[in-house]
This record gives sequence, structure tokens and C-alpha cells, in this order.
Amino acid sequence: MHKKSVGKTKQTSKNETRQERYPRPAWLPKGVVEEEELCPECFKVVGDRSRYKLVCMLGKASEGMTVGALTEELKLKQPTVTHHLQILKSVEAVEVVPQGRERVYRLNRDAHCFEECKIPY
Ligand SMILES: [Zn+2]
Repeated sequence: MHKKSVGKTKQTSKNETRQERYPRPAWLPKGVVEEEELCPECFKVVGDRSRYKLVCMLGKASEGMTVGALTEELKLKQPTVTHHLQILKSVEAVEVVPQGRERVYRLNRDAHCFEECKIPY
């Protein structure tokens, strides 16, 4: 995905498909994210301020959090929180762990966005 191109003159058509880049959102701490532009997956994760807040909250909650707890903390409507969580799930930034009748959301620290692109949380 994020292969570093080695300085060879040979051009493979596959490598040249440039990935779309998105500008770094203002609420993302500068200096932590080295790149000024984000890949589409990372932009999905942090492209919305509340969604990024959600990521930070989950980053601090090692045990994970339920939608209910997240809703309360973020002071958003539950469908909104669920919507954000679904987007995060679509890029594997969070994982869902069933716990009794509840579903607990945890940050997937091995996700591309955190491992490779170093999105802070
Ligand atoms: Zn990325």
C-alpha cells in the first residue's frame, strides 16, 4: 500500500497509480503526523472532528467502550456515533468485541492508519 519507491529509473505501470491524497485536517496535531497529506483510509479515520475524538477516546480506553459510553462522552446522538463507528470499522480502525449483551468497540492499533501512517490517538 504505502511502498516507498526506490530510486530506480524503471517504471512499472502498477507502481505509478498514484493514490489520492487528502489534506491533513486542522484538528490533527501538527508534528505528530509527519505527512501533510493523508491517504484515503486515514482521511476516513480523522477527516471528521468527532470521529477523530472518538479514535482518541478509544485509544485511551484499553478495555474498549460501548456505544452507550461513547455517546455519553461525545455528547452526540447514538445513531451519529454508530455511523462514525461503522466508518472506522470499514477501514479496520476499530474492532467489535461482543461482551454479554453489549458490543464493545476497541481501537485496532495494528490498523494501517496507526501502524503505517502513524495517526496519533
Ligand atoms: Zn494512511
